[in-house]
Amino acid sequence: MALSIVDLYKKVLPKTNCKECSFLTCLAFAGMVVSEKHPLRGCPHIASDVLEWAEKELEEQYRQGKWLKKDMAVDALQLAKDKITKEDLKQIGDRIGGKMEGDVLVLPYFNTYLYIDSSGVKDEAGNDLSRNEQTFVYIHISMMIKAEAVTPTGNLKSFKEFPNTVAKVVSMRNHIEEPLKKAFAGNLEGLKRACLQCGGIDVKDNYESPNLALSFQVFPLVAVTLLFWEAGEEFDADVKLLFDEKVTCHLDIESIMFLSQYLADRLRAASIL
Ligand code: SF4
Repeated sequence: MALSIVDLYKKVLPKTNCKECSFLTCLAFAGMVVSEKHPLRGCPHIASDVLEWAEKELEEQYRQGKWLKKDMAVDALQLAKDKITKEDLKQIGDRIGGKMEGDVLVLPYFNTYLYIDSSGVKDEAGNDLSRNEQTFVYIHISMMIKAEAVTPTGNLKSFKEFPNTVAKVVSMRNHIEEPLKKAFAGNLEGLKRACLQCGGIDVKDNYESPNLALSFQVFPLVAVTLLFWEAGEEFDADVKLLFDEKVTCHLDIESIMFLSQYLADRLRAASIL
C-alpha cells in the first residue's frame, strides 16, 4: 500500500508537531518524506515496527516514482542536450578550444579533460559528471553554436558588474563568498594548496592588495580569478571572484553562479582531503 502525505501523517507520524525533525509540523515533514525522499528516520518518535513497515512501503513507491517531486535537473540536462547535434559538436570543437576524437569532443576543463558526445559528459576516468555539471558544460557549448567566436579580453569584472545579476548577488555572497571566507580565514596556505590542487595558477604578481590571487582556466575560453584578503586588525577577511568581461558570451548568469558554487565547493573539499 503506497503512502501518500496524508497517509503518512495519519497512520505513521505522532502528530505532535514537536519540531525535533527540524520541520515545523508533522505534515510538513510528511511532505518532504513522500515527495523528496527525506529519511523517515528523521522523526525519532516512530515505533520500530511501524518504521520498518513504512520504510518498506516508501522504498517501493520511490522505486515507482510515485508522488516524487519531478527532478528538475533531469529536465534541464535534457533541454541543454537537445540544443546540440552531433554535427554541432564537430563544428564547434575548434572554436571553443577542444578537439574531436571520432564523435567525441575532448575539451580542457580546469586541470583535466572532458569527453563530450550527445549522450553525456564524462571525466578522464570515464565517469559521468553530475547532471548539473553536464548541463553547465552543454550550456557553454550551445552558447557558441550560433554565436560569433568571442575571445576573452583579459579585462576582469566582479559578478555584480554584469547585467541582470541583481537578484543573484545576495546568493553569491551568502552561499559562495561567505562560506569561502569562513573556511579559509587564517588559513592562506590551505587555500593556496587547495587552489593549486584544483588547477589554479598563481597570479599574485598582477595584484597589489589581496594576499592571494589565483586564476582557474575553466574552459579554454572561460577563466575565473579568485582574490583573497586575510583579516586585518580593522577589517574582516574578504574574497572576490572575477570573470572576463566577455564571459557572458560563453556562459549565462545561472551558469556563472553554478561555476562559482562549484569552485567554492571543490576548494573546500580539497582543503579537508
Ligand atoms: S519529529 Fe516527528 S513528531 Fe516531531 S514534528 Fe517531526 S514528524 Fe512530528
